[in-house]
Amino acid sequence: MKKGREKMFDSVIIGAGVAGCVAARELAEAGKKVLVLEQRDHIGGNCYDEKDEHGILIHKYGPHIFHTKAQRAYDYLSRFTEWYAFGHEVVANVHGRLIPVPFNLNTLHMVYEKEEADVLEKKLVDAFGMETRVPILKLREHEDPQIRQIADYVYENIFLHYTMKQWGQTPEEIDPAVTGRVPVLISYDNRYFQEPYQGMPLKGYTPMFEAMLDHPGITVETGVDARSRLDFRGNQVFFDEEAFTGEVIYTGPLDELFDCRFGRLPYRSLNFEFEYLNQEDYQGHSVVNYTVSEAFTRITEFKYLTGQKAPGTTIVREYPFAYTGAEGEIPYYSIASEENQKLYEKYQALLAGIPNVYLLGRLAEYKYYNMDAMVLRALKLTDRIQGHCS
Ligand code: FAD
Ligand code: UDP
Repeated sequence: MKKGREKMFDSVIIGAGVAGCVAARELAEAGKKVLVLEQRDHIGGNCYDEKDEHGILIHKYGPHIFHTKAQRAYDYLSRFTEWYAFGHEVVANVHGRLIPVPFNLNTLHMVYEKEEADVLEKKLVDAFGMETRVPILKLREHEDPQIRQIADYVYENIFLHYTMKQWGQTPEEIDPAVTGRVPVLISYDNRYFQEPYQGMPLKGYTPMFEAMLDHPGITVETGVDARSRLDFRGNQVFFDEEAFTGEVIYTGPLDELFDCRFGRLPYRSLNFEFEYLNQEDYQGHSVVNYTVSEAFTRITEFKYLTGQKAPGTTIVREYPFAYTGAEGEIPYYSIASEENQKLYEKYQALLAGIPNVYLLGRLAEYKYYNMDAMVLRALKLTDRIQGHCS
């Protein structure tokens, strides 16, 4: 079996998340024989969904809503799924009251009396224009004290406590791009995302990835930690003890590929607490963010995401914590900082002389990517590989 492995597979892909699945499909369609190794017992990575014991379709690793402005990403996934299209909305529970997030002009009119809200709305529109997006940290620096007053409300009631729970740090301490993902919207749009394409794969994420990997050129092995089959010696990568000259695309954590020899790259992790309730509805919304209270950040009620009709309902609460690398913990969010980037680059340098090993994905690149960005990056990489090969 081992002998001739190099001839059996042209490419080895580690991890069957979005990054690995798209890369595998692309290389297989280019005529390569591709082996995908996945350490979990299922494909789909963190986008994996399944029916729970009550028949409710749940997202095992947290709620995933596809959204993009990139036609290429949408068209690519549309080859493997139809869509349940909807505009995702989120509300924040602020001392028991539910208000739309991102904070927008509807929210403004809910939290201020009409007269004051009208004045503040005019100020915001004059300052930034209609249909614009203003990061909270920028709004807080505005010269107009009344605009700063709104900013202080939003900061205190939407961002500060939620961010402390999620990151263990204040909004000022984390990379501004993170809070910038949920700006203040000078708009009456209550949707969480404003991109033209958004929704859920009609039958779920897992069937979409199954369809993607369903190609005669692709072999998938689950329950395999690829590190037990890979080795680096000199400037060569060895696979199953043999020098491997095809491409190896790694989508797992880079530090773990080298046994964390320079120390662990820091991540935030999450504990998911699922609960099935024998009632038709729990919160009337897909996602409620708890921005001033509770130890969890948010509650997702899945049937509102997927459109599933069922007599009962399943919810999940998310409890963030600092990843330690202990057995069973999952690194979800890289923590962007100069220091962490330097450590990442130290690991990256270990691969500098090995041109056929590629790092791809949210873990391997130590970067926050949404699914659509991941699709695009995987397509870019495989385009590049094919360009190099031809
Ligand atoms: P992953 O999905 O993490 O896949 C990597 C795979 O590699 C995993 O399956 C892992 O088991 C495997 N692996 C790692 N090491 C090894 C090894 N040594 N051997 C074998 N296999 C290995 N994006 C959106 O667009 N919309 C959302 O609403 C959204 N919500 C999110 C909510 C949460 C809670 C989180 C954490 C992320 C969310 N994302 C969302 C981001 C989305 O999950 C990522 O863009 C996507 O999962 C990245 O895909 P990936 O393939 O890089 O990584
Ligand atoms: N955020 C917040 N309150 C909210 C929503 C978001 O403070 O109600 C901040 C928080 O720091 C979060 C970041 O904005 O990590 C990005 O939010 P997003 O919903 O994009 O996070 P993710 O989807 O990654 O969980």
